[in-house]
Amino acid sequence: MRVKIFWDQNAPRGLETAVEKRIRSILGIPLEIVESCILLSGYNRERDQYDAQKILSRIQLFKRQRGSTEPVLLVVPDDLSIRGQDFVFGLARESVGAAVVSTARLDNGYYGRAREDSDLAGRIAKEGAHEIGHLFGLEHCPDVECVMFPPRTLGELDRKKLAFCTACGKKFRLREGVDSL
Ligand SMILES: [Zn+2]
Ligand SMILES: [Zn+2]
Repeated sequence: MRVKIFWDQNAPRGLETAVEKRIRSILGIPLEIVESCILLSGYNRERDQYDAQKILSRIQLFKRQRGSTEPVLLVVPDDLSIRGQDFVFGLARESVGAAVVSTARLDNGYYGRAREDSDLAGRIAKEGAHEIGHLFGLEHCPDVECVMFPPRTLGELDRKKLAFCTACGKKFRLREGVDSL
């Protein structure tokens, strides 16, 4: 099954191909990147953040209206949060095949460092592949280098490799094989 990546109009430009290539190398399945026409909802002015759950509901609605069944990952530039957490890098809802990743805290600029496109593409790919992993039923992994490890900081994210550990890789191929039957 082909996974669709929706790239928000305001997400960093020029990285789409680099991100697609890296996610494909992690997952080993075909992907398609398209410009997103999904309007974001759930903006909180005080926190200057979007509610990630509301964005997932918006993707769910979009898919239902189009009768679309393929998994969707939306890449947005805006900072995201969920109830009870200051921020999230991304979020997935497996039951409806919808996931979102924010580039806000993946950019060196957020931490006062110079922008580095290959760093940014690698981080978007790790977090994107992580959320797509959830869409195929994978859970969090204790291996700090595995894509399915849940990072709380940029340092923890950078420590992850652009790959699943052996166990998660096996699980993904199994689930992906079942879903494409
Ligand atoms: Zn996760
Ligand atoms: Zn793992």
